[in-house]
Amino acid sequence: MQAEDASFGAPRLVVATGGLSIAKIGATSFGYDLAGQFGLKIEPPRAALVPLVFSERDRKRWCDLAGVSIEVVASIRGAKRTAKPAFRENMLFTHRGISGPAILQISSYWDGKEPIHLDLAPERNLTAELRERGHRDEASWRLLLREVLPRRFADRWLETYPLTGNSDRALADAERQLHGWEVKPEATEGYGKAEVTAGGIDTNELSAQTLESRKVPGLFFIGEVVDVTGQLGGFNFQWAWASGFCAGQAV
Ligand SMILES: Cc1cc2nc3c(=O)[nH]c(=O)nc-3n(C[C@H](O)[C@H](O)[C@H](O)COP(=O)(O)OP(=O)(O)OC[C@H]3O[C@@H](n4cnc5c(N)ncnc54)[C@H](O)[C@@H]3O)c2cc1C
Repeated sequence: MQAEDASFGAPRLVVATGGLSIAKIGATSFGYDLAGQFGLKIEPPRAALVPLVFSERDRKRWCDLAGVSIEVVASIRGAKRTAKPAFRENMLFTHRGISGPAILQISSYWDGKEPIHLDLAPERNLTAELRERGHRDEASWRLLLREVLPRRFADRWLETYPLTGNSDRALADAERQLHGWEVKPEATEGYGKAEVTAGGIDTNELSAQTLESRKVPGLFFIGEVVDVTGQLGGFNFQWAWASGFCAGQAV
């Protein structure tokens, strides 16, 4: 007899079926479906720690730079400005958009609509550096950008955002553009490439001590199926193990 055809009884059940990321290694919606069956509230799942996909126009403009990496500060400055963090890490161009630690991190906070704000020269004032060198012309600006940014990116940047003159205003615009590149991804790469699934069983449904359902005694949810999402750095593993330990003490 196969397990699918059998009924099993137990006084306690711990659900540890993870999120929806990477179906080809066994991810299913089982945990969410079961929680739904018992009327538990679920924060809608979505792909997180995931690369972002550019629109076709931006793919044509930027994606031949696939493999080029730049240190940036990535943040979101949409209408809901509050409490969304910024990440100073590397960003990597891919064949379809952008990835790298800065982008994976910020993707977990992206609502699918707001632009992603990228500072391409964190904590530097490049036009001030240009003036200190006694220059204001486009050739010197190109040389400086090539020192600070990967050369292929610097050249593409200047094709897209050329210096519009040598006035103070033109230099200020150039500086502002570098610190505030707003990209509007079209989508994420989805669960096929997401390192985690954000959303899941609402933590208010569960005991903070044991992870047991408040409504359904004996039913426990641990790990990624719960609405707890960590940043890069091992925090998702940590949550899976720590929540498993807590439930394990109680069953
Ligand atoms: C590519 C990748 C890289 C990652 N890197 C990191 C990292 O560096 N640091 C970090 O902290 N986290 C990382 N994570 C996230 C981390 O792996 C998860 O958060 C963690 O493993 C979740 O543990 P879990 O036990 O809740 O679920 P999982 O480890 O996903 O285990 C769930 C298990 O349940 C099984 N299952 C699901 N449905 C069913 C079903 N219907 N019947 C039977 N079995 C089922 C699945 O096959 C799976 O074996 C990464 C994830 C991925 C995909």
